[in-house]
Amino acid sequence: MSNYVLPELPYDYAALEPHISATIMELHHSKHHAAYVAGANTAIEKLAEARESGDFANINRLQKDLAFHLGGHTNHSIFWRNLTPDSQGRPTGDLSAAIDEFFGSFEKFQAQFNAASLGLQGSGWGFLAWDGIGKRLIIEQLYDQQGNAPVATIPVLMLDMWEHAFYLDYKNVKADYVKAFWNIINWDDVAARFDAARAGTSGLLLVS
Ligand code: MN
Repeated sequence: MSNYVLPELPYDYAALEPHISATIMELHHSKHHAAYVAGANTAIEKLAEARESGDFANINRLQKDLAFHLGGHTNHSIFWRNLTPDSQGRPTGDLSAAIDEFFGSFEKFQAQFNAASLGLQGSGWGFLAWDGIGKRLIIEQLYDQQGNAPVATIPVLMLDMWEHAFYLDYKNVKADYVKAFWNIINWDDVAARFDAARAGTSGLLLVS
């Protein structure tokens, strides 16, 4: 029943320095992300046991555990691939045009993304998503690993704002971490997710 697996990073732990240290990357991937994978597998197994026994006394905890850990696994799987040591700097083509269309300009998009990410109260993520109902890009705040986002929007660019993602490097100066993020974005990956989401094939297929 253990069907979730920790994906390999597409680069070395030290590859994103000086923006994100090898120490953070190693802990973040091999400990934190690995724990979400284990937690998601455990939740799936416990839910199977509950169905088998007919005892759903812990159903609320198990559903929350599934949402939290599978959310963590999903978010980090996207985040690693959103990053690269060889950033193209700026989005191009259709993605660039869509950002201009839905946010006014790249600078206005960046300003909202930064504000949403830095404004999170507690742990969470700032992210750019495709809303297939409105057929538009939107920026969202994700609380913890799973809260505060409508279910059917598809993330294309995610920024981990949990303290474990930056504290060893940036201490309490979150703004410097967010500033550094813009130097290591893999816009080719973001564009591929955007194209897939817009075409109605899930961007999540590109996770691993
Ligand atoms: Mn994280």
